[in-house]
Amino acid sequence: MEEDELQEKEFFSWEEFSAFFDAWCERRKVLFFVKNSVPLSKCKWATAPPRPDVVEALKYSSVRLVCKDFRGSSKPDQGGQQKGCCASIVLKMSPKKDRLIVTECQLTHNHALCPIEFAYYFKKGYLMANSCLPVRTTNKISKQFVGGPDVRRLLSYCKSRDHGVLDVLTVLDGLFASDPSAKVKLVFMEDKVIVQTIFFLSSRMMALSRRFPLMLFFDRMVGLNEEFDLYSVLCVDGAGRGREVAYCLTQRETPDLLRFTLASLVQSVPEVKLQVRCITLGVEIAHLEAVKELLPNARVQICRSQVLETLFSKAQELGAAEDERIWPLLCRLAAAKSPAAYQQAVQEMKTILPQRFVRYFRRHWQPRSEMWVQFWAFETARNVNACELLKQHQRRLLAALSPSPTVAQCMLDLLAMQVGSEAHELDEGELATHYRAICKPEPAGLIEEELGFARHGRYRFQETAEGYLLHDGLSKFTMDQALTRCSCSIYTSSLLPCRHLFATRLRTGLALFDPGLLHRNRAALLGAC
Ligand SMILES: [Zn+2]
Ligand SMILES: [Zn+2]
Repeated sequence: MEEDELQEKEFFSWEEFSAFFDAWCERRKVLFFVKNSVPLSKCKWATAPPRPDVVEALKYSSVRLVCKDFRGSSKPDQGGQQKGCCASIVLKMSPKKDRLIVTECQLTHNHALCPIEFAYYFKKGYLMANSCLPVRTTNKISKQFVGGPDVRRLLSYCKSRDHGVLDVLTVLDGLFASDPSAKVKLVFMEDKVIVQTIFFLSSRMMALSRRFPLMLFFDRMVGLNEEFDLYSVLCVDGAGRGREVAYCLTQRETPDLLRFTLASLVQSVPEVKLQVRCITLGVEIAHLEAVKELLPNARVQICRSQVLETLFSKAQELGAAEDERIWPLLCRLAAAKSPAAYQQAVQEMKTILPQRFVRYFRRHWQPRSEMWVQFWAFETARNVNACELLKQHQRRLLAALSPSPTVAQCMLDLLAMQVGSEAHELDEGELATHYRAICKPEPAGLIEEELGFARHGRYRFQETAEGYLLHDGLSKFTMDQALTRCSCSIYTSSLLPCRHLFATRLRTGLALFDPGLLHRNRAALLGAC
């Protein structure tokens, strides 16, 4: 009897049962689904509760699986149609609370079993995946932006800590609690409750990308983790620093991250689409054609120093001799300031580097020379050194991230880094020196004093139609869009930049040293009479 094989059978984990049952269903071509279940994590106990590791392993105190043709078998016959099928299996935790036991099984179907239907509907691993969150929920929400209420709903469905999904959702819940307009996109692996990719940006990052959309940078962090990768999008703020405007955490080797990240960024901040003029990519980023489509006005550059390093190590890999001339030659190639200089370096390459390398170069780097050779791929405006900016960002990430973090921990670290970053970047002494160089001693002293208050922890900021609103816990102050004027008495009496202007500039990424801040009080300037 089939029943005998199952009745009273014991399993020491839900995983063990799922694997057994998948194979069992495959042999018999039967389709079952979970009709009701009671997760152990949600049980109340009159006596001592099971140990946490048992809760983790067994997952359920009871589960009822029914045939796919179940259809509420108590309903009356309609138009002579067959009643629903009664085949079912019940699994319960043993009284000793250490295993699951099949307590009921009824395996007679009132219909033929169809192998074609089985092949179509059967999904191996489905029972296991569903034990954390309903797979239909994760499939539905996948690749879409989620908000605070979505995350709370997912959290309420969450039955176990499997695959760190619960931890990720908890971090997202915290993010939305402090920043309800943050943007988050979650991608789950198809039919599994495993987070494949998370795209996220805070409202502050959105404000930065609106204010500084001209140049963007996109790169992967090297050496983060065995399991997942971190990609960041940066912009350049008013002080020439690289600032994060979006993050994407993803299982390693997920393809086409450039397209996914840029598309998600453009969906979050639509106005950047036409404003980006240049995007610099890390050397290993693929599918560059995505840029043309998503940022139609942007030219693509590839980080020159990374190309140089790649060429150098490839030359050695392809059998280049130890030759002191190779590195300077590659540098001349990358830094060529005219097409002729570039051509000449290519010619020289043929004499000192092996043929295999020259072929590799022709295939991979020659066609893209306009994206990395200095003559074509100039860094646009404001003396931004793209390579240095990407390197600094790598260093900041290395300092901020816990060693080999989980996805959830990595998100926490990244969010904490956002909060801490502006305070680190404020060098009051240096700024005061700049102001002293252009201002008379008395106004310079006043400005220095105000700079000291720029880091105030209690300030709350808000963007308005006219500019910015700052709340210091007692009063509110309004500032213009360009952040040169404030409604406070310090500014209105002195016409010198006040703590509120500095604090808001710090937060939005505008330069704190800006001679434009003194346009309305020229008498404060040295050399003025
Ligand atoms: Zn059936
Ligand atoms: Zn003010």
